[in-house]
Amino acid sequence: MKENINITQDWIENIIQNFISQSPLNSLQNGTDEPAWDQAQVGFASGTDQIWQQYKEYIGAFHWTPWEVFNQHCPDENVSADQLTVISWILPQRKLVRKTNRKEKTYPSEEWARIRVFGEEFNMALRRNVVESLEQEGHSAVAPMATPNWTIVKSKRFSYASSWSERHAAHAAGLGTFGLCDGLITAKGKAMRVGSVVAKVSLEPSPRLYADHQAYCLFYADGTCGKCIDRCPARAITTQGHDKEKCRAHLVKSRKYVKKTYDFEGYGCGLCQVGVPCESGIPVKAAREAYEKGELPPPPPPLA
Ligand code: SF4
Ligand code: SF4
Repeated sequence: MKENINITQDWIENIIQNFISQSPLNSLQNGTDEPAWDQAQVGFASGTDQIWQQYKEYIGAFHWTPWEVFNQHCPDENVSADQLTVISWILPQRKLVRKTNRKEKTYPSEEWARIRVFGEEFNMALRRNVVESLEQEGHSAVAPMATPNWTIVKSKRFSYASSWSERHAAHAAGLGTFGLCDGLITAKGKAMRVGSVVAKVSLEPSPRLYADHQAYCLFYADGTCGKCIDRCPARAITTQGHDKEKCRAHLVKSRKYVKKTYDFEGYGCGLCQVGVPCESGIPVKAAREAYEKGELPPPPPPLA
């Protein structure tokens, strides 16, 4: 490895945006020139952020902190948590892809299913590219989702959960909050995919411009909306939240449909991510305005 150079947030963001604009893997793979993704939203969280321990306590002991996953895969580095930064990115679904899936009532559009498979293959290549780019400059890094021991674990509280959650990493990095359907609502909406890398670099963390972890969802903000409940063909969303088992069973069924209808090995759904107020932006006005100004939202008015 070379001597460390000064890695900045801009340097990392450029690596990500350049890979998106230049990699031939960024493709719907449908015989057209259509890319899978346009540009990413990028955020940063410190390895010392208390939120990692809170996730561990809330999700389960199996859920890794950045320090745990980094040390499992780079044990010779002997780092402390304050030397680590989590780099997280959002890949917002393109307008064309959202539009086609909005028309669907039971199974995904062809474009959406292609993103689920080929868009995610690109996302995995992007994780590797970020790791390799950092390593070339002398900074060890790990993509938790690309590690061989990343796993899904049965959980009493959540049916199942995983040893690293990309959505939770994005929330920690200031990129969004959770909605009634469990999706992460970002400044570019809930229709998106997400990725992350844990790196041995010290960077200023991104601010979390939200009052709590559900602040961008209308249902949690003021009890309205619930549109994702109506969009779900599997009745997996209720006012109590998201039933992962029902959702997963529907995704399994979608494989047969995708093969028969679009003639490739794929799957998906995402109907709750489109045709809803949080599809492509923050639907809660005060939270959106605060985000646009780069400020924390004002506290809610006191109850009468
Ligand atoms: S559709 Fe409405 S209730 Fe569902 S996550 Fe979006 S804002 Fe929340
Ligand atoms: S909750 Fe699952 S099954 Fe229901 S619309 Fe969303 S992705 Fe589809």
